[in-house]
Amino acid sequence: MSEDRALLDEVRAFTRGTMRRWGEEVERDGVVPRRMWEELNARGYLRLRAPRAMGGRGLSLPTYLPLLEEFSRGHGSLRMIVHVLNGVWRPLHQYGTPAQIERFVRPLVAGEIVVAFAVTEPHAGTGADVRCTARRDGDQYVLNGEKHLITFGTIADYCLVLCRLEGTSGSEGTLCLLVRQGTPGFSAQPMAESMGLRGGDHAHLIFEDCRVPSDHRIGAEGEGLAVALEGFLYPSRISVAMSCVGLAAQALDLAVAHAKERVTFGRPIGERQMVQAMLAEAATDLEAARRLVLWAGECWEAEPPAIGPSAMAKLYGLEALQRITDRALQVFGGVGYFKDHEIERIYRDARAQRFEEGTAEIQKTTIARTLLE
Ligand SMILES: Cc1cc2nc3c(=O)[nH]c(=O)nc-3n(C[C@H](O)[C@H](O)[C@H](O)COP(=O)(O)OP(=O)(O)OC[C@H]3O[C@@H](n4cnc5c(N)ncnc54)[C@H](O)[C@@H]3O)c2cc1C
Repeated sequence: MSEDRALLDEVRAFTRGTMRRWGEEVERDGVVPRRMWEELNARGYLRLRAPRAMGGRGLSLPTYLPLLEEFSRGHGSLRMIVHVLNGVWRPLHQYGTPAQIERFVRPLVAGEIVVAFAVTEPHAGTGADVRCTARRDGDQYVLNGEKHLITFGTIADYCLVLCRLEGTSGSEGTLCLLVRQGTPGFSAQPMAESMGLRGGDHAHLIFEDCRVPSDHRIGAEGEGLAVALEGFLYPSRISVAMSCVGLAAQALDLAVAHAKERVTFGRPIGERQMVQAMLAEAATDLEAARRLVLWAGECWEAEPPAIGPSAMAKLYGLEALQRITDRALQVFGGVGYFKDHEIERIYRDARAQRFEEGTAEIQKTTIARTLLE
């Protein structure tokens, strides 16, 4: 058996075994227990993508994506941890100095620190519109502003914050600062309870004259948006798209099993053509999404990496996921609306994918730009 196949089998056994118990616990308590982080780290699942030279397993995107599909069949918190930790090292590695790589990337890959990615703001659009400001003062930046919806925002050791130099507009004045949790002037408050994705530790970050050492700037002044987009978000969209595929695959499997078991009017509902149509349409949508994501992964690893396919994969993946989970819930009938059925959680978790790493509308904007430029 190849090494890749053995790893896929191992992940499959984990997500369908041990992880089911963790998932129930996270769903009940709303927090990821420390033990779960430790187990994921001990199993090496948080450094699958990082380069071997950094202590990672160095998997290519096409090898990693089927693993992420499996993780996404487990609980949403598992998928988020694996997804974020296997991606957030990238902007630091791509834009960091050799000293920063040793100081931040190595411990991140080793699972000694967690870094959250902080772009979204309550009073601005996500991207070149950001309003968080940084003012240079000697060998420090003075950071002011707010971020919200930030995954792992209260538990992360550092937040990679997209901000701009005071008095600038557009992408030219943007920069990224790695801000340590506990720095005076930095507070992270949990957001209100979310519809789904329990355990995501989504936070509202406030910076009030927060002093950040200038050697915590990742990339140059003016490169902030590139660090955020090229370093993290563009390839990350492919991973989120595969997360959609994994969640949709789980929904479809549950629907198929239910269609075989549930008997009405003397026959399993799976024998009814209208139920079969829902399953057939969902299966076709799922396979189309999966192939598109895998293709986007290959395009990202080509030279130069292509941005359009990652937005296409995210767009199609998130829309297919909504259609598939809706049909799967329909196959379940009324019982699927209740919390003792996994499809209820999947349906809620699926809705978040329409926002994470950019909405459908923003993906369409990106795709159109690649066509028209
Ligand atoms: C579960 C979850 C986890 C998240 N984790 C993180 C995280 O870790 N880090 C982080 O930085 N963010 C995170 N986010 C935020 C997420 O990236 C944003 O919600 C998303 O990018 C949309 O931005 P917004 O919420 O500000 O929506 P808005 O910008 O307020 O948009 C509202 C609506 O208007 C549309 N719209 C806005 N601007 C335009 C435009 N120019 N053209 C066309 N349509 C437009 C949008 O598509 C949307 O439908 C998370 C969100 C969720 C739900």
